[in-house]
Amino acid sequence: MSWDELAPDGVYPIAGANALFLEPCRMISSAYAHYFALPHRYYSRSFFLRHHDHSADNPQTQLPQKKRKRKRKKPIHNHSNPKELLAEQRHQGIRQFILDAHQAFLAIPEVSDLLKSLEDLVHKSKGSSDCEEIHDTGTDMVDFVKLSYVWQSPFYDITLFGVQGSSLRSTAPISTFPLFKSTVENNLHKESIGICAGTTVILPEKSRFLMSDFADTWRTLASHLGNDYNFILIDPPWENKSVHRHAPYSTLPNKYLLSLPLKDLANHQGALIGLWVTNREKLWTFVEKELFPAWGVNLQAIWYWLKVKSDGQMITELDISHHKPYECLLLGYMLPHHKKDSSQVPPPKVPPDKQVLISIPGDHSRKPPLAWHDQMRGLELFARDLHPGCTSWGNEPLRFQQTQYFSKR
Ligand code: SAM
Repeated sequence: MSWDELAPDGVYPIAGANALFLEPCRMISSAYAHYFALPHRYYSRSFFLRHHDHSADNPQTQLPQKKRKRKRKKPIHNHSNPKELLAEQRHQGIRQFILDAHQAFLAIPEVSDLLKSLEDLVHKSKGSSDCEEIHDTGTDMVDFVKLSYVWQSPFYDITLFGVQGSSLRSTAPISTFPLFKSTVENNLHKESIGICAGTTVILPEKSRFLMSDFADTWRTLASHLGNDYNFILIDPPWENKSVHRHAPYSTLPNKYLLSLPLKDLANHQGALIGLWVTNREKLWTFVEKELFPAWGVNLQAIWYWLKVKSDGQMITELDISHHKPYECLLLGYMLPHHKKDSSQVPPPKVPPDKQVLISIPGDHSRKPPLAWHDQMRGLELFARDLHPGCTSWGNEPLRFQQTQYFSKR
């Protein structure tokens, strides 16, 4: 059986566990009438790297067997300092819960069908073309962060076009906006195409974005983005040794997050706040003792994103001390405050505690998408993509909206 039959929207509830198996490409694609997200672009590392070790082809990288040293894994329990002890206690508190969710996932009768059909989709998608041919804007993807630093950046703009019928020919231009430091909105009830800086991007219906650096706009975020959000999702570029080393994006010192103007952005009836955190104890202490109190957020629930390989096994052993196969989404309420100029939209209900989201991770440490629904006035901070009805802010919110990530339906 295929995903079409079992979970057409990409969300498969796992019976007997507080857990869901997610297929992010399907979830993303359900937001578009004319396009779908290309699975091989989303998952290339998870599905292609494991099949072939390229270093084996190069005699220079081949070491004689006896000299090849295996990197030693960190000991399973290494409580050399109090922070590690606390982290271990936290882990012990939920490890059985995660194990049970994983067992329930592996026990789904159709699990091998789901994984196999996903693998087939990824391989099939590699053979298909992306939709770059819609506009003759070249095939290279643009690095928006780098582009924002060039002296000409204030002169870049983005022109939006509607999408017409199945031929996908764009209509006459709808509107043009500055590309950086300006709020850009697709106010159509269908997706539109944006041409900017030599690339083509796809904007979901009713989506908005602001592409700017924290340093330039933190004081003015609310005046750019509005003050009416009842759900705010935040995935900060946390400082971390491995992020530094591999540098997929620049990081931001924790203390700057304290000055994110969340109260100004939230609806006056309060808002649900979702914050992604890694497993470092130092980070948890900062969030619990400083960040949430500064933002006025009460922690209500924790969700766990469990990363599995294409064969369904966890990406690392569960108990390795510095590299857990899961990350956490902390969910809490920002309490109502007295601000008269926003509308009466109560925040969404706090979701149940201890939900496990299981998925095969995409490239570039992309988080699995959350299902944004119509009643949400959603805002994503440090976003790299757009969602229907939501506003995305960050220094590269168009990164995964480039047409190379999509194909025509
Ligand atoms: N949630 C995203 C996803 O799943 O694709 C990942 C977000 S990633 C953890 C953090 C993002 O913050 C990166 O896109 C990074 O470029 C951006 N960022 C880093 N420093 C920034 C700054 N000073 N201002 C705005 N965005 C910044």
